[in-house]
Amino acid sequence: MPELPEVETVRRRLAPVLEGRAWRNVEISDPRLTRPLDPVEVARELDGERVDRLDRRGKYLIVRFDSGRALLVHLRMTGSFQHSPEGALGDDPHRRAVVELDDGAELGYRDVRRFGTWLLLEPEDVEAYIGDRVGPEPLADTFRSRDLAVRLAGRRAPIKAAILDQRTVAGVGNIYADEALWRAKLHPLRPAASLDAREVQALHRAMRKALEAGLERQGSTLRDYRLPDGGSGSMQDEFKVYGRGGEPCERCGTPIDKIRVAGRGTWYCPRCQRLG
Ligand SMILES: [Zn+2]
Repeated sequence: MPELPEVETVRRRLAPVLEGRAWRNVEISDPRLTRPLDPVEVARELDGERVDRLDRRGKYLIVRFDSGRALLVHLRMTGSFQHSPEGALGDDPHRRAVVELDDGAELGYRDVRRFGTWLLLEPEDVEAYIGDRVGPEPLADTFRSRDLAVRLAGRRAPIKAAILDQRTVAGVGNIYADEALWRAKLHPLRPAASLDAREVQALHRAMRKALEAGLERQGSTLRDYRLPDGGSGSMQDEFKVYGRGGEPCERCGTPIDKIRVAGRGTWYCPRCQRLG
């Protein structure tokens, strides 16, 4: 599933071609994308809206329109956008929506597994909706180690589960959680509240480093994640632990181990990341 670096990479690619453009002839062909709302109805509402800004919060892409409305897009497992400047998107059996832009370009949305969502919000609902679901942006200058400490305090859940919770920090998923915990030398099963100030500081720094590494590599390419121009990221070649079971830890040479935490496959170094 795309996480902060992947979604931010998509945002950076799409923003220049979407901002300022009006949407026309919007077609949404998959009711799952907009449910429980009727896709035809949502498409009609989107018709004529002009894009002011393309934002991101956590794993959400936010298409902000001049009207104040916003379309919240969550790519989930396999959602992706394609942009064709000439307005010539080829056929694609997995396409779920097409938007014509007023400069003659076309924007397509494809989704193989069909878990992605498009939610159109009225101006007065936008910030509350996001605020209820998404915590602080981990790469923002305003996000300090003490903010993380406050959010972890009193939580008995494993630290990995706590940072997967999008209200703790926005945009960290299974990949970057494992990468951050390895960098911070923290065992994923440590109760969140058991971290001392120094460990929280290490985790804060590690999360930012892991996410920045992902951004530099334009995200990772796993399964059906693709950039809007068909390109792909290369972060998967740089993972320290994620998906590397049995391979030697880059720091100490111990084979990376895999366990389950919060129902998710979790990779860590049993020597660098001790439980006790
Ligand atoms: Zn190690």
